[in-house]
Amino acid sequence: MDKIVSLCRRRGFVFPSSEIYGGLGSAYDYGHYGVLMKNNVKARWLESMIQERDDIVALDSAIILNPRVWEASGHTQLMHDPLVDCRACKLRFRADALDQAQCGLKPSKHPGEFKDCDLTEPREFNVMLATSFGVLEESAAKVYLRPETAQGIFLNFKNVLQIARRKPPFGIAQIGKSFRNEITPGNFLFRTREFEQMEMEFFVPPDEADEWYRYWVEERLGWYTRYGIRESKLRVRPHEPDELSHYSQATSDVEYLFPIGWLELEGIANRGDYDLRQHSEHSGTKLEYVGEGGERYVPHVIEPAGGPDRSMLAFLVDAYDEEVVAERERTVLRLHPAVAPVKAAVLPLIAKDEGMVRHARALYEELRTRHMVEYDEGGAIGRRYRRQDEIGTPFAFTVDEQTVGDETVTVRDRDSLAQERLPIGGVQDWLEEALERPWKTPKGD
Ligand code: ATP
Repeated sequence: MDKIVSLCRRRGFVFPSSEIYGGLGSAYDYGHYGVLMKNNVKARWLESMIQERDDIVALDSAIILNPRVWEASGHTQLMHDPLVDCRACKLRFRADALDQAQCGLKPSKHPGEFKDCDLTEPREFNVMLATSFGVLEESAAKVYLRPETAQGIFLNFKNVLQIARRKPPFGIAQIGKSFRNEITPGNFLFRTREFEQMEMEFFVPPDEADEWYRYWVEERLGWYTRYGIRESKLRVRPHEPDELSHYSQATSDVEYLFPIGWLELEGIANRGDYDLRQHSEHSGTKLEYVGEGGERYVPHVIEPAGGPDRSMLAFLVDAYDEEVVAERERTVLRLHPAVAPVKAAVLPLIAKDEGMVRHARALYEELRTRHMVEYDEGGAIGRRYRRQDEIGTPFAFTVDEQTVGDETVTVRDRDSLAQERLPIGGVQDWLEEALERPWKTPKGD
């Protein structure tokens, strides 16, 4: 994990937030490549949820909702994590995640494992972040930054049913920021207090709930492998009955084998009719489906809930590789081309050669109309390749002396390092096809 953190910083994927003020524990800012890559993760999710299907629509709901929403959803009463204090090191930990935390006195051990640890009994801690809404101090309402994007979806169930004229089974998908006052944030992007979620609520006839639940578990697992994560590093873990959230009838986590162990990437829950019933009761608005023949029911909800930050971390971890080539070490991110921040680099061999630069600039201008492409003329060619390897650029086109004579360029493959000559006029189509080709990591299973 340290290597990933250091690469992300060195290459400007992710920076510690508020750094010049000493940071703000476990808060991060995304730099150029981080933004590009996270946007790719979100775009692939939206494609799979919306573009490639007929039964899901998009939504972007507000972050701050009427506070009554959180009473209806159960968050005000139940969004608690069990908190323990250590009387010896004075740190606080989440009682159910001690295995992800470090002891304050002996960091190689987990809290409670060192002889001097002195943990209190767990107590409940509400993780919603509050703020005030309105300009007058006396009358400003206490509101919460949403701890999940799901509730905004339930509130729009009726709008979508009526205005988008949908009938179950149908889904509503949204990506957006959520906030939780996590007791033990950490492990880089894995757990932060401000993060993004990618959530989809799929409304189904009650007797189809179980079938759709199983369908979405498989579908979501398949999304991670489709974008290159190794199957051997993924598993589905059904929750034990005592682990289930207050709303859940069944939940399975898609877990990834991070360097710190198997951890949740995404949860798929069968929420039953809990949410629509709660909001019907608290708001007085009936949230149900009425069919053409007059049949009515409260749909059940299947929810795949993941996060682009956590997914991005898994993509980075899975892609990270080091190898020795011609006696030189190279670090390479073997990212699926659809997730890689930059798709191709255009490199003139000699920056001072007018002919090469002219050809390279023209190629760059052509390719960038369709893809995120980088032009780099700074430094020795080997160094430029290594820079692209480190950010996971799948292809590099090099313009050399021969290009000026015969209008061909070399393409270098990030993974195999194979080089091939192509006519410069065919590069755009070649790249288009190469980016569509099925890709499998050369890291093996
Ligand atoms: P955990 O048990 O790890 O706290 P959770 O079960 O509370 O997670 P959910 O409420 O199911 O998480 O949230 C759905 C998804 O949102 C998670 O699978 C994860 O990808 C993302 N997520 C949740 N909390 C965080 C966080 N603090 N930082 C980054 N991503 C998060």
